Amino acid sequence: MKIVTTAAGMQRLARGWQRRGVKVGFVPTMGYLHAGHISLVKRARRLVGRAGAVVVSIYVNPAQFAPQEDLAKYPRDFPHDRALCRAAGVDVIFAPPDPEMYPGRATGDHSTYVVEEMLAQGMEGAARPTHFRGVTTVVAKLFHLVLPTVAVFGAKDWQQATVVRRMVRDLNFPLRLVVAPTHREPDGLAMSSRNQYLNAEERPQATILWRAMQHAKAAVREAGGAVPAAALKQELAALIATQPAARLDYVEFFDPESLRPVAAVRRGAQLALAVFVGRTRLIDNGRV
Ligand code: AMP
Repeated sequence: MKIVTTAAGMQRLARGWQRRGVKVGFVPTMGYLHAGHISLVKRARRLVGRAGAVVVSIYVNPAQFAPQEDLAKYPRDFPHDRALCRAAGVDVIFAPPDPEMYPGRATGDHSTYVVEEMLAQGMEGAARPTHFRGVTTVVAKLFHLVLPTVAVFGAKDWQQATVVRRMVRDLNFPLRLVVAPTHREPDGLAMSSRNQYLNAEERPQATILWRAMQHAKAAVREAGGAVPAAALKQELAALIATQPAARLDYVEFFDPESLRPVAAVRRGAQLALAVFVGRTRLIDNGRV
């Protein structure tokens, strides 16, 4: 397994693969890897085969954090990540330091961004106004450096995957985007690098996101048809409020592809929610 830390080095490697017709599977991450990330790595391997190359990027992208967010304390453990990647058969870890990814940032003259203007408006985009601009910009940059045949994203970040898919289509990135299912703890909590912020009181309460999703599913199944979104949102808000450490940021029902909110919730609608548990902001989503 190679570890590449420069943009030029990554691009050189990628160009070599491209010349030789080697398929490249790419999993972009912010590190502090867990079994959810590794499930994406395994998917990438299946997609490119043994003759292909699997690249994992580990980069905590400052451009997708707002000033008051957790950039500085975002968990990092490179030796642990390296061991997990090696065990999963990763060929290359691309782990650039900030000046490699954003040479203009230190002097304040990075001035080019990639912005998706429709799907990035609601939910995470509304709660975190500069977030998706940072995501699309860094993902576009990573695609230029890694030149993937296929990129694997997690359904855990549904809106992110949808925004990136739109960017790939709109800007003609020559790659296939695959979205892999959310990996969960046995009690339903979606795996996330941020789960390690939760203390012993908060951790059991964090399953409220999963329980809220199950509640919505059951409500729609029992109604046997459409349920008004507003009423269902209220029910979920009340359910979440039963947990003393939990505070609802948003809950939304929407079309899984257009991300347009729906007024009537039927089976097949997508549900997404963001909940603070203590000071930790958790997101989850699923099909109703
Ligand atoms: P992150 O390191 O949180 O930026 O995530 C990197 C990639 O892993 C993204 O495509 C995420 O959607 C995906 N991911 C994160 N958590 C999970 C999970 N529990 N199951 C599947 N994919 C995940």
